[in-house]
Amino acid sequence: MQVLLADHAGFCFGVQRALDLVEDEVKQKQCVATYGPLIHNPQVVERLARQGVKVYDDLQDRTPARLVIRSHGVGPEVYQEANEKNFPVVDATCPFVKKVQTLAQRFTQEGYQVVIAGDRNHPEVQGILAWSGSKAFVVANGKEAASLKLQGKVALIAQTTLKEATLREIEQALRAQPVELELRNTICAATGNRQKAARQLVNEVDVMVVVGGRNSSNTVKLAQICRDTGVPTYHIEEAAELKPEWFTGKQKAGVTAGASTPRWIIEEVIQRMTELNQEKETEFQAQNQEIAAEVEDMGESFAESLR
Ligand code: SF4
Repeated sequence: MQVLLADHAGFCFGVQRALDLVEDEVKQKQCVATYGPLIHNPQVVERLARQGVKVYDDLQDRTPARLVIRSHGVGPEVYQEANEKNFPVVDATCPFVKKVQTLAQRFTQEGYQVVIAGDRNHPEVQGILAWSGSKAFVVANGKEAASLKLQGKVALIAQTTLKEATLREIEQALRAQPVELELRNTICAATGNRQKAARQLVNEVDVMVVVGGRNSSNTVKLAQICRDTGVPTYHIEEAAELKPEWFTGKQKAGVTAGASTPRWIIEEVIQRMTELNQEKETEFQAQNQEIAAEVEDMGESFAESLR
């Protein structure tokens, strides 16, 4: 079985930058805390915890620390509270997310009703919403957008990891309303590249493995894209979850990974898939030898019976 890795997979620029910023602080022996888990990858978060990096979900009664704002970003109230409580801020908000926040703020100031296309429970969307004022809405699909019944000035922006097709669906639903629509496609190229590469690869393989946190929105979407093609697709967080039976009779297996999956986890997965393949080949050869021996025995017994 051949194991193929997608052209774009794993850590994106924003996540790598956030991790580098945290590691720089750790090297300087600072007391470091991230505001929420740094990225949606439990293995990376555990590794940081072993290096002493704390995770704060709020700033109530916390030990003073360098406070790292993760790549998903936060609303203005968090900066304000950190400032009031004298927590020095290390801002690891991805510049692409920062751009969406700035757009949300600017459109709000210009009197637009801001519509954010995305998942309302995702921290990135909650952060953008906090920059958008009270006239903002979050919609996950065209149906939700159609139910808004808006009129007047509307600005549509997107969660950076949204699927292009979902943004188009939402745009259509808004254009059907009597609105003056300003659309800014804020879907990040890293997300688009990973989705495109996964789509290309899944068409060349018999089975697909998608690596990344189960809480990682962009990894879940990659798995969805692959699954929608009908190719058996498995979403795992680490190599230990791989099962040999997934690859029985398969000639080619594809691997892709979300933007918050580090290289070392992808390498471990590919290594384990290669080992599983070798184990299967050895098992297959052993079975063949047993069959050959049995055939030889039967041949001898048959020859014996003719004597
Ligand atoms: Fe930034 Fe894009 Fe990575 Fe999100 S996916 S952190 S927007 S580079």
